[in-house]
Amino acid sequence: MKIIKEGKIPSERLYRTTCRHCKTVFEFLESEGNVRYYRDGNYVEIICPICNIICNVTRK
Ligand SMILES: [Zn+2]
Repeated sequence: MKIIKEGKIPSERLYRTTCRHCKTVFEFLESEGNVRYYRDGNYVEIICPICNIICNVTRK
């Protein structure tokens, strides 16, 4: 095989959010959450590690 032009594996998207319930600030990778597709935009759902409620972050 011969590589003509070397590409780059896209790095995973990192998100930072503040839990609206317990105010914990945390970062997570997109693969740690669940992507939800809506007509008005896409969101990533992530469970807060402290209080376990679902937080929604706008998908990048
Ligand atoms: Zn929380």
